Amino acid sequence: MDCLFCKIAAGEIPSTKVYEDERVVVFRDIAPAAPVHLLAIPRQHIESAAVIDEQTAELVGYIFTVIARVARNEGLENGFRIVSNIGKDGGQTVPHLHFHILAGRELAWPAG
Ligand code: AMP
Repeated sequence: MDCLFCKIAAGEIPSTKVYEDERVVVFRDIAPAAPVHLLAIPRQHIESAAVIDEQTAELVGYIFTVIARVARNEGLENGFRIVSNIGKDGGQTVPHLHFHILAGRELAWPAG
């Protein structure tokens, strides 16, 4: 499959990984929107959060445990934001489920 994040997960395209295991990869965003900007992805190709179902729910829950661990390792005790963009209006540019982890400055809210 011609998917950028599948290729990053497989190591076919280089990235700065901060965590990986058999199910999940976390790497630094190439165009950071905050001092810390990570992307957490499943190795399994899932198009977006809009298609999470009973089969993938456990994996998605597991990704959140990884995010919590990575946040501790990155020293994000001041807080952080998890974002998942979905589809065109949501601003999704890579059609492989990913969770942005943004931190290192006070983030405006509501977003965009
Ligand atoms: P989204 O726009 O929500 O789909 O997020 C896609 C994110 O992937 C953007 O923040 C991009 O900067 C990031 N991105 C695109 N290509 C790469 C890459 N090769 N390595 C790391 N991050 C990337």
